[in-house]
Amino acid sequence: MRIDILTLFPDMCQAVFNESIVGRAKAKGLIEINAVNIRDFTLDKHNRVDDTPYGGGMGMLMQAQPIYDCYKDLCSRLGKKPHLIYLSPQGQVLTQERAKQLACMDNIALLCGHYEGIDERVLEEIVDEEISIGDYVLTGGELPALVLTDCIARMVDGVLPNEEAFSLESHYSGLLEHPQYTKPFCWNEKEVPAVLISGHHANIEKWKHEQSLKRTFERRPDLLQKVQLSKSDKEYLDSLQKDK
Ligand code: SAM
Repeated sequence: MRIDILTLFPDMCQAVFNESIVGRAKAKGLIEINAVNIRDFTLDKHNRVDDTPYGGGMGMLMQAQPIYDCYKDLCSRLGKKPHLIYLSPQGQVLTQERAKQLACMDNIALLCGHYEGIDERVLEEIVDEEISIGDYVLTGGELPALVLTDCIARMVDGVLPNEEAFSLESHYSGLLEHPQYTKPFCWNEKEVPAVLISGHHANIEKWKHEQSLKRTFERRPDLLQKVQLSKSDKEYLDSLQKDK
């Protein structure tokens, strides 16, 4: 898959692409990620890409022309239209489920706003979807675009060693992941739960699943409304409710 990030700050993105899991996925050719500088497409003789908003108000807005030309150039280089996502605090909040779906697409472009945002007319013209990374406002769309890229990249086939590497993680199945422990067995007078060194595979799996339910019940009970629960899950949750 290929992700193109349309931004005024391409250097902010480059540093992240080449590190860790995303960097390795790139090196293996599983994913291609490019940052395109919107400023390279301005027709303004002073290289400007922003101007004041009509009707007054604080700050500056990114102008339509450089963004539109940058997008058109990308379309002609790809030979098709990518699925264009505008990172925006007004978009649908990102979920694991949506990242999983996006990871199946061949071409995605991410548009990063800056200043007070972007002239609405170009958004109407080119944007397929708006995604927010949470109900708060950041200075620009670069960090959200990197969050989204990372989240999508690890769902691409072959990036993680196998499906188990992400299917047990928080949010994949709708629950939070169980607590985890590594060596040493005893640290700061705290021992690892005995079941984890019992060697009894079925008991370990049962413990992990119940801990996952317990965590979700305690920290994010709203998630339990959306997940399919078995009869034994419901009984376990009822017992937690009674102990409360
Ligand atoms: N004036 C805009 C509003 O109130 O909706 C906010 C503009 S914000 C200061 C500048 C840019 O940062 C946005 O165009 C967007 O690309 C990005 N941004 C800020 N917060 C975001 C969020 N929670 N999720 C995704 N992108 C965000």
